[in-house]
Amino acid sequence: MNEKLLEVNQLKKHFDVGKGKVLKAVNDVSFYVNRGETFGLVGESGCGKSTIGRTILGLYDKTEGDVIYDGLDVHSLTEKEKFKIYRKMQMIFQDPYASLNPRSTVREVIAEPMEVHGLFKSKREQLERVYELLEEVGLNRDHANRYPHEFSGGQRQRIGIARALALEPEFIIADEPISALDVSVQAQVVNLLKELQVEKGLTFLFIAHDLSMVKQISDRIGVMYLGNLVELTSSKALYDEPLHPYTKALLSAIPIPDPDIEESRERIILEGELPSPIDPPSGCVFRTRCPFAMEVCAEVQPPWQEVEQDHYVACHLYNNEVEDKTPLKEPAVQR
Ligand code: SF4
Repeated sequence: MNEKLLEVNQLKKHFDVGKGKVLKAVNDVSFYVNRGETFGLVGESGCGKSTIGRTILGLYDKTEGDVIYDGLDVHSLTEKEKFKIYRKMQMIFQDPYASLNPRSTVREVIAEPMEVHGLFKSKREQLERVYELLEEVGLNRDHANRYPHEFSGGQRQRIGIARALALEPEFIIADEPISALDVSVQAQVVNLLKELQVEKGLTFLFIAHDLSMVKQISDRIGVMYLGNLVELTSSKALYDEPLHPYTKALLSAIPIPDPDIEESRERIILEGELPSPIDPPSGCVFRTRCPFAMEVCAEVQPPWQEVEQDHYVACHLYNNEVEDKTPLKEPAVQR
């Protein structure tokens, strides 16, 4: 029986950008993460996925909706309660260099959260724990007295992971943890996160723009576009039977190593740029780039529906109430 560790319900995060304008970074997004699973959140830069991560952790106040962690509404906790709960929730950042203080040694970087939470009575015990953490992430104790700039990108991300593990969290938000790394190193970091998950029973929210890597680590995946969740299902169903045109376009951009499949594959060509979240399109937010856009798409926001078991999508192509599904123009599909 799955136990929900995190529930995000109809979350909105809007930013006032002045002159009466509002940037709708996150719009009515709902999903849950079961204890022990990895939930992937995918979409282009600027789609709101990192804002969701930061709002879950209380780094941003919410505009509307709820974030429920282990039964507690995190945005209505007292400061003392927040201090306790945020020990269980940690974050791994995209840029391991920017997120590590260059003037602190690796030992100081990893020990800092332990000091803030007063975890150890003696410096000796604390240092032993730093050594243990370095070994857990594939580094060694000799690295403790060195500075972040002395390490490669992959090693710096390992230091960031060790720091995130310092408080023995149960839930980790990994915000684009591999985007800044070379492809060869990306797989190593993903494998490390998978191993740590099994060893420590961790739950992950894995945020990324690259669907190919997210598949390797996620049990379920939510696809975001311009502040909205457009599809959500198991990792397998998303890859085998994607429904939303945006998901199909993202998937069709990933090269397949098998030349036969690659040759027969349909590519969906996305035209235009991501619109501004300050002035999103009416109806379906994807309609300005969707090859299958119909008349109704400009007028009515597509409902969030469960089309198959545990497979949710927001698209009028699957809306039984829309009778005329003729696209406005010939879809730009390449074989
Ligand atoms: Fe495309 Fe319309 Fe579906 Fe939006 S609702 S994804 S515009 S077909």
